[in-house]
Amino acid sequence: MMIVMKEDATKEQIDSIVKRVESTGAHAHVSEGELLTVIGAIGDRERIANLDLTGVDGVDRVVPITKPYKLASNEFKHGIPSVIEIDGRRVGGGNFSLMAGPCTVESREQLLTTAEAVKQGGASMLRGGAYKPRTSPYSFQGLGGEGLRLLREAKDQTGLPIVTELMDQRDLDQVLEVADVVQIGARSMQNYSLLAELGRAGRPVLLKRGLSATLEELLMAAEYILKEGNEDVILCERGIRTFETATRFTLDIMAVPVLKQMSHLPVVVDPSHAAGRRDLVLPLSLAAAAAGADGIIVEVHYNPETAICDGPQAVPADDFAEYAEQVQRVAAIVGNELSAL
Ligand code: PEP
Ligand code: MN
Repeated sequence: MMIVMKEDATKEQIDSIVKRVESTGAHAHVSEGELLTVIGAIGDRERIANLDLTGVDGVDRVVPITKPYKLASNEFKHGIPSVIEIDGRRVGGGNFSLMAGPCTVESREQLLTTAEAVKQGGASMLRGGAYKPRTSPYSFQGLGGEGLRLLREAKDQTGLPIVTELMDQRDLDQVLEVADVVQIGARSMQNYSLLAELGRAGRPVLLKRGLSATLEELLMAAEYILKEGNEDVILCERGIRTFETATRFTLDIMAVPVLKQMSHLPVVVDPSHAAGRRDLVLPLSLAAAAAGADGIIVEVHYNPETAICDGPQAVPADDFAEYAEQVQRVAAIVGNELSAL
């Protein structure tokens, strides 16, 4: 249920509604807009309805949220897109983000060279994994703490905010020391205790869609983060499992406009993992930008032939500036402007 307060509602009136909502055992989520305050009451629907808040002092109207995802739903924000602030860059609401970098941090030279190239090409943020969710336990698992240290160095050198993956709750504090955006990989999308922990940590989260997750399941996963008070969630379509074997996964381009109908949260697209092939990364990126995505997260490597992980899908660092220019041009057509410093 959403309680929309009147524009001239006083703090006392807002506090009193919050208390009444909480008296039913529900959670009251207060969002203060420029003009008015909205209180999201999340809990037992009947008990909240029984409070009969319509007509109470300061209350303008009471609106039910019909979807199972509440805080993530468009109803909750009256259809106004959320804008997430990341170290001076903005994601969503007409701001287009290019998050670029290697699949995994391999070495100082690899990371710093690639980071410099994506910076020069206009990237908004640097991506790179220190903890890697590999299908085989015998594959390279990431540099761990050393990878995080190198990411810190790349951030100091380029000024680019860092997007890096967290897989295990035990690494949270270390990851928070360097991550401006914590990536939750497709395989962890339904690790609900990890999501709740990130909700409490308060750092922006890039939440990837599970390999076989529906859009509703993705939004329910986002809800775990939002429910703990962290409003900064970026959704990511990264390709899903279908019967098609010509590509690594199948990019669900419809996810972009459909998620935007369902939710106020920004939506970015990962063309690299969807395609698994470098030749498809540009066309998929252009399609994503044209579909209204709020950004792209793309793998870039200074020497893809030698990449330890995901080389075949990496855009060579030398080609990044040209790639970025083409993607930006299409994003601009649908009203999204690159957000970089
Ligand atoms: C990645 O971004 O490197 C990655 C492992 O992605 P996903 O979780 O989408 O497979
Ligand atoms: Mn990868």
